[in-house]
Amino acid sequence: MSTIREQFDTPVLYEADVLVVGGGPAGIGAALASARHGAKTILLERFGCLGGNQTLTFSNLFAFVDPRIQGGIIQEIIERLGKGGGIVLDCPEKVNRSGWGPEQGVHFFDGEYYKYLLDNMMKEAAVKVLFHSFAVATIREGNSIRGVVVESRQGRFAVTAKVVIDCSGLGEIAWKSGAPVIGEEGFADGECKGQHMGYGYAYYASGIDIDRFRAYAAKHQAEWGEFSAGRDLITQAKADGRVRLLRNSALIRERIGGRAWILNPSYSLQEGQHPWEVEAMTAGEIDLRRQARELHNLFKAEVPGFEDAVIEQTPQQPLMRDGHRILGEYILTEHDIRHVKSFDDAIAVCNMPPDIFYPNGGHKFAYDVTPYDIPFRCLISAEVDNLLAAGSSVSMDLVTWAAVRYNTPSVCTGQAAGTAAALAVRQNVSPKRLDVKMIQAALISAGQRTTVRTLPDAVIKDYERRAEEAKPLRI
Ligand SMILES: Cc1cc2nc3c(=O)[nH]c(=O)nc-3n(C[C@H](O)[C@H](O)[C@H](O)COP(=O)(O)OP(=O)(O)OC[C@H]3O[C@@H](n4cnc5c(N)ncnc54)[C@H](O)[C@@H]3O)c2cc1C
Repeated sequence: MSTIREQFDTPVLYEADVLVVGGGPAGIGAALASARHGAKTILLERFGCLGGNQTLTFSNLFAFVDPRIQGGIIQEIIERLGKGGGIVLDCPEKVNRSGWGPEQGVHFFDGEYYKYLLDNMMKEAAVKVLFHSFAVATIREGNSIRGVVVESRQGRFAVTAKVVIDCSGLGEIAWKSGAPVIGEEGFADGECKGQHMGYGYAYYASGIDIDRFRAYAAKHQAEWGEFSAGRDLITQAKADGRVRLLRNSALIRERIGGRAWILNPSYSLQEGQHPWEVEAMTAGEIDLRRQARELHNLFKAEVPGFEDAVIEQTPQQPLMRDGHRILGEYILTEHDIRHVKSFDDAIAVCNMPPDIFYPNGGHKFAYDVTPYDIPFRCLISAEVDNLLAAGSSVSMDLVTWAAVRYNTPSVCTGQAAGTAAALAVRQNVSPKRLDVKMIQAALISAGQRTTVRTLPDAVIKDYERRAEEAKPLRI
């Protein structure tokens, strides 16, 4: 490969105590916690709104929210969404056809209200948000990161900081800094060894006669359940060559105003391809759009209520089901979340079971995994002194990642990373040198639970009972 040498001076436009890169659920928790602990905090986001996958790729819900398990910023967001009328209802009867709603810890929200709420929350906390700012490189000095270089419509500029938190969703800052990362390898074992999960895609259709569709779905519940909608229709259409789709059913969530959120298109990468490669992403985008169109045409032709539907919107980018994560001081594993459960340096409790998508179209939701701790060491780069990570960039194996990356735990790991970063700045030490008890105390006083050890037995028993009840649902 030939190379070119770029040589230019880049202006340092901003200096912060704590720089958070990425405005998804992890970045939201991190930036709010950091600023609330008094650190001068900058939040960089490459697109024009906060929310990350929640707003850009329509994952507009918080699932597995349980005040007995999390607390802290996630609870505050849920309450403020509720007060502002943003917990939506979107769903006609406030619950899905599956019976899931706020009572079950599932909060669907209006993505546009959420963006507005987050703008206000950042302003109240005095977080400086920079939109349309893509961190393209890091300024690495020995064992620390001095800051990042940003590409923007305004040109290239640098932001420096004492602590950097990678909330890019893909460990992108760690990777670009040359810090050790995991995630190149895909599945570690089994049939899909060496392969990545690939891309997923949800789109919005509108113009649906929801009442007609619901009546039809109620009559054919086995075929049109919320989670495996259209299994027979799609399987047959695939066999007839009418559609080319990887997955045999869709997840359909009806919204108010004749809209539905439809998740089905999935894209598997070719052998040796990585999900962050531009050519893979381009081929994926084109194929996922094709799949959405073919599925839409099938529904229009065959499903009562969809006759006049249109595809209203496809996402800003496909969901990358896996990618890089930092290599932390500890890698949380499936064995840990199943059997070890608690750690002395726990900073958040996660009740989300692994939700694993296989490249061959298979899917497994491990309902039997009950709550477990996330250790602080998973948030600290093994190599770089002032680099933390949160959300889906945390140090964990792929199965654990398929749980901890989710929206609700991402806010919690974000809150922990932001708290630790601000405390490290205040004490003028690396986050690695902080006494973890101090981070835990700060989190607890801000309302966030840190360990399963302090959960009442009744809560654990409740989760064990749910796991037992969910046995028949295990795929
Ligand atoms: C279709 C779909 C369905 C889903 N279903 C669910 C569900 O039911 N429940 C659930 O809890 N989760 C669900 N998820 C997953 C969930 O949304 C993610 O796991 C979660 O968003 C991860 O949060 P994050 O903050 O780590 O990363 P992200 O949400 O990916 O946020 C990262 C942010 O960083 C920005 N960014 C990245 N790189 C840079 C850079 N270099 N410079 C500046 N900004 C950058 C991105 O633009 C983005 O805003 C779903 C996701 C999708 C797309």
